[in-house]
Amino acid sequence: MRVLLVEHAGFCFGVKNAIETVLRAAARGSVCTLGELIHNRRTVDELARRGIFAVERPQQVTTRQVVIRSHGAAPQTYEALSRLGVEIVDATCPFVRRIHEKARSLAQDGVQILVIGQQEHPEIVATMGWAGPGAILIDSLTQARALRHYDRACVIGQTTYSMEKRDLLLAEIARHVDELEVFDFVCATTSLRQKEVLALRSRCDTVLVVGDWSSANTRKLYELACQGCQAYLIADAQDPVLAQLDPDSICGITGGASAPPQALEEIVAALKARYPCIIETIAT
Ligand code: SF4
Repeated sequence: MRVLLVEHAGFCFGVKNAIETVLRAAARGSVCTLGELIHNRRTVDELARRGIFAVERPQQVTTRQVVIRSHGAAPQTYEALSRLGVEIVDATCPFVRRIHEKARSLAQDGVQILVIGQQEHPEIVATMGWAGPGAILIDSLTQARALRHYDRACVIGQTTYSMEKRDLLLAEIARHVDELEVFDFVCATTSLRQKEVLALRSRCDTVLVVGDWSSANTRKLYELACQGCQAYLIADAQDPVLAQLDPDSICGITGGASAPPQALEEIVAALKARYPCIIETIAT
């Protein structure tokens, strides 16, 4: 079997930073996270074993410190935590913070904000908080087509959004706005991974996408892989699909931004143990 690895699978900068931040906070005193730190069961369980649990609402915080995860939080959430007197440890990814700052300044200037993203995603919940009640969320062509006409508007959005879908929506939005500013919002990590999976699917019979179904960026990689070859989204080396691969095939491996590097290493080791393998890393 030929196994092709990409260069950028596994924890992204923002996720690594969030995990390191929470572990440093835990060394100083009791800490919880507001929402699960990342969309990965293995990592969340590992943090729980260290006594670091997630709460869903500020009112549930009973620890001395609370960590804001890489997705950031709405201003109302910061205010609620401040009122409780809990120490806020902010692990918002700098790429997300940049978008939230842009949203705040656009809202202050009274510019119409159009937000491309998934309504339920925590990063977008936070972004909508910064953008204010006048912001419009768009996640489908139908919603973009329903926009009225604006003299001026600015588009911001979700760092992990599909670039393909973003371009489709932007083309439609542009038909409704005379003076349109598009703030670059898909982060470099996301765009690199999406490009890599396109390269993988064109060279492989099968692509394994490592991560959890709860991770939006991982699901997007899986959807892109499915469009070009047989693809599987798997969490770990215990997945039965590893035993069902064709030994004479080419198998690509990538992983979402919240996939632990250990999971990727264990999957490669499991393939090597089961099949004669040639392992290569592809550059895009
Ligand atoms: S996917 Fe991008 S924006 Fe999100 S945490 Fe990772 S580096 Fe930051």
